[in-house]
Amino acid sequence: MAQPPRPLLVVYTGGTLGMLPSAAGLVPGGDIGRRLDAALASLPPARRADLPPFELVETPQPIDSSAATPATWQALAGLIAAQHGRQRYAGIVVLHGTDTLAWSAASLAYQLQGIDIPLVVSGAMLPLEAEGSDALSNIEAALRFAAKPRLKEVAVCFAGKLLRATRTRKWHTQAADAFTSPNYPPLGELVDHRPVLYPNRGLAEQQRGAPRFELPDYTGKHASNSVVRIVLWPGIAAWQVAAWLEPSAVQGALLEVWGDGNAPDDPELLGVLARASGEGKLLVALSQCPHGGIQIGHYAAGRGLADAGVLSADAMTPEAAFTKLVHLLTQPLGDAERRRLFLTPLAGER
Ligand code: ASP
Repeated sequence: MAQPPRPLLVVYTGGTLGMLPSAAGLVPGGDIGRRLDAALASLPPARRADLPPFELVETPQPIDSSAATPATWQALAGLIAAQHGRQRYAGIVVLHGTDTLAWSAASLAYQLQGIDIPLVVSGAMLPLEAEGSDALSNIEAALRFAAKPRLKEVAVCFAGKLLRATRTRKWHTQAADAFTSPNYPPLGELVDHRPVLYPNRGLAEQQRGAPRFELPDYTGKHASNSVVRIVLWPGIAAWQVAAWLEPSAVQGALLEVWGDGNAPDDPELLGVLARASGEGKLLVALSQCPHGGIQIGHYAAGRGLADAGVLSADAMTPEAAFTKLVHLLTQPLGDAERRRLFLTPLAGER
């Protein structure tokens, strides 16, 4: 007798998708199973009937994603790793607030490297019950992509597009089509309510390898505060950069430089960077331009970054670079190995 299809697992973490009005504004809402069933019942019967079966779990406290921290990313990865180990589910959907969705999704990709089932992260710009909400269509699309066995990576599904988690950014504060993948093409698209995966874009075909989950402790003393993000501006002074980099809790920094890798040719500022690198802090640079990568050293003015030990994050998103720094800095790795791993693609992020 044919086996019934394995169900999907839907993990609800909060976000606007499930929010309810309150006197203080929208707040994370519960009872999501009943509300989801009610929404799905409004789909045309043929579309409802061919949705993949799923089971639902809620994280202990649904949150506005502005409350997420590296500890939240770790708890979510731990939950998914445990469920993956049961081999019960054909794919997993995570419903998440959109504001920090790109961070959580990228972090999941590093913690769950080589995942061999679809892990699709989605959310909505409007609550499930709101007039004109995008919640139901995003959930439907996420379920359909999560049932595609050829998808073997962490992806973000939003407004009918499927994007690689480590390449995704939130790009609009209000539009339903709120996410983009500036430096990697979409992995797939919903066409007439059918999920289409584009050939040769998935990690399955490129660099995925076998599952090798890495779940380091992100809750350690300084994990949340170990990485800082410094966006250069014209006139930035060495003492300002030093104020960010000097605390001993700071172990890594994302420098957001100009154009294809340009920064002030200021010996004092470069000295601050070199001193931090010399102390074993992991400094990486990416561009403030959303499109394109960087080439440190293309301009003489930016060459000092390389001399100060700053690594190129190339065309990574800030979210993917930041979460990768957290991931590498929370593991007991030597300086050289950390630097090597930062430059090595682990989850299609570069
Ligand atoms: N504030 C919400 C959140 O990130 C926004 C959303 O979900 O769209 O949780």
